[in-house]
Amino acid sequence: MKIAQYLRWIILGAILGATMVGNYLHINYGAVYPSVHAVCPLGGLENLWAWAGGRANLQKLFSGTMTLFFFTLIFAFIFGRSFCGQICPFGALQELAGKIGKRKPGVPEKADKIMRRFKYVVLIFITIAAWFTSSLWISPYDPWAAFAHIWSGSMLISEMRAGAVILALVLAASIFVDRFFCKYLCPAGAMYGIISRLSPCKIKREDCSSCGLCAKACPMRVEVDRVRTVKSSECIACGQCVVACQSKKREIQMTVFNRKIKPVAFTLSVTIFFFGALFALDAAGMYQVSIPAVADVRDSGAYINIADLRGSMDIETGASYVGMQLSDFYALMEIPKDVPKETRLKDVVSYVPGYDFHAMKATKTK
Ligand code: SF4
Ligand code: SF4
Repeated sequence: MKIAQYLRWIILGAILGATMVGNYLHINYGAVYPSVHAVCPLGGLENLWAWAGGRANLQKLFSGTMTLFFFTLIFAFIFGRSFCGQICPFGALQELAGKIGKRKPGVPEKADKIMRRFKYVVLIFITIAAWFTSSLWISPYDPWAAFAHIWSGSMLISEMRAGAVILALVLAASIFVDRFFCKYLCPAGAMYGIISRLSPCKIKREDCSSCGLCAKACPMRVEVDRVRTVKSSECIACGQCVVACQSKKREIQMTVFNRKIKPVAFTLSVTIFFFGALFALDAAGMYQVSIPAVADVRDSGAYINIADLRGSMDIETGASYVGMQLSDFYALMEIPKDVPKETRLKDVVSYVPGYDFHAMKATKTK
């Protein structure tokens, strides 16, 4: 059974490592590689209002971010909150931090119950705020975004100071409380938790000695030894409770539509399904989360939408990306002709006071 535990850690570690490499490439080689925001499913929720209204995606997001958002909702419906237990790199990072502390005092029960509601408040608050401000305003405070910027050196401190402080606090808290952020603060976890209640994947326990080993092993502190079927939205489908059971008859099991499934098989199934589906969506052209190389765009003629222009592109590159003559692009974006074509779109404001590239982009995609 230990093999299930190791397999889950290996997969989580590989995802965390791959994410760090992706972040490094994005910071050092630009938007050809996806940013942390573009591949965050929660970004899709923040972008929902703009997307539903046919407006430009919020800054830093792509059409593929919406695909990821809807896909993870379906994923939660099928596999419960297993995105958290089996896929999420920030969950993995917290588990890694948790390995430092052997004794976990945890939060007293009463405070724990109250604090678990914070994540729902965060979920509602950031969604409404993003819709009203049309921006990822939470980004500077986001500990995961801060972690993604560890490669950026001084920028982490200058632009993401609050996020870096929250990240340090979350990781320090995770030493003493298993998955601190997942339990109390994560809006994505809150969203998947609500949907997971409808999932056919459940932990089921038969009549047993109620030794409590399963509950003790649970990182989310679900009282798994007191129920027959775990229906809690806190369960992240990690399978630790099943692995911990010492009974020869294996009284506790992961189940899908009441059929037992071994933790190893569950971990492999969800991982293959998750990445297989994303691969298929990408192949179908539905998972664009980064800018293609400009030469590829020119060769293929598959131009990007105005909505997917980035402020980091210069004017000439922007025109190439959307397949327009340079002069037409100047006219479309209402940029005066005397602004040099090498100017980054977000820097046009230094030639034209008050020019807001993102607002301009939004008006052109209405
Ligand atoms: S609760 Fe949030 S941080 Fe934790 S694993 Fe789930 S999505 Fe990741
Ligand atoms: S109940 Fe079991 S599967 Fe659910 S979070 Fe706890 S240990 Fe993981």
